[in-house]
Amino acid sequence: MKLVDYHVHTDYSSDAISPMQKVIEAAILNNVEALAITDHFEVGDMYDVDGAYATYNVIKELYNDKIDLSYGVEIGDPYRDPVLAADVLDKIPFDFVLASCHYCDGPYWTRNFKTTNKDEFMQHYFDNLNLILDFGNFDCFAHLDLPKRYMSSVGVSLDILSEYPEQTEQVLMRAIAEGKGLEVNTSGLRPYTNGDMMGETMPNMNVIELYKKLGGTIVTVGSDSHNKNDVGKNCVDALDCLKKAGFDEVATFKGRKCKFETIEIEYE
Ligand SMILES: [Zn+2]
Ligand SMILES: [Zn+2]
Repeated sequence: MKLVDYHVHTDYSSDAISPMQKVIEAAILNNVEALAITDHFEVGDMYDVDGAYATYNVIKELYNDKIDLSYGVEIGDPYRDPVLAADVLDKIPFDFVLASCHYCDGPYWTRNFKTTNKDEFMQHYFDNLNLILDFGNFDCFAHLDLPKRYMSSVGVSLDILSEYPEQTEQVLMRAIAEGKGLEVNTSGLRPYTNGDMMGETMPNMNVIELYKKLGGTIVTVGSDSHNKNDVGKNCVDALDCLKKAGFDEVATFKGRKCKFETIEIEYE
């Protein structure tokens, strides 16, 4: 079984707590065979790009024979400063780039959804996914239906495909046409710090199935761990979702080039 985790944070991310070495050791302990480090690069909240890469280069030598390591980044809303974003992506030879919409323009931030008009909020969100596609320098969309995480915490449900079918299909079709992959993010399967739990992957199954039906082939799996204890968590479940959706392969990346690995989990 090839267990992969292509979305983990280290303490180079401002909201994560575990040193990179501990994250890699936890991955090995949890039988993760292919791991991509993907710290946050939020435009306007720059992380220590050079320090993180230097640390990775030292540590990877210690573990190269134990785990298949890739060095990535989770770039948030690159359209907010595409020149800076492009500079960082030019400077560091990342293996893998996840792109995320964490912010929505103006007053809207995914985390700040409270009583805002949901349709208006989601229109901003879909517009921003298209701005990320306009930017273009990334490999996969992370957690495509992220707003549901914050909506669920205020008792509002969100199923992007059934509620916003045209916009969801448009983004997926454009992503596929432009060679962009789709991550299955397992963080929604873990309880939050307040004990609440969303109980589904991001995106959920119907979006994964539509990506497949529309011809999408590039799918990754990520725990989005911000703590070494969560490295690899529920990644087997995400691989299971992919199998159920008809995928036989999961994507890994080296030097921004996609390599497909057969999904070999037991499937019942
Ligand atoms: Zn994210
Ligand atoms: Zn993340």
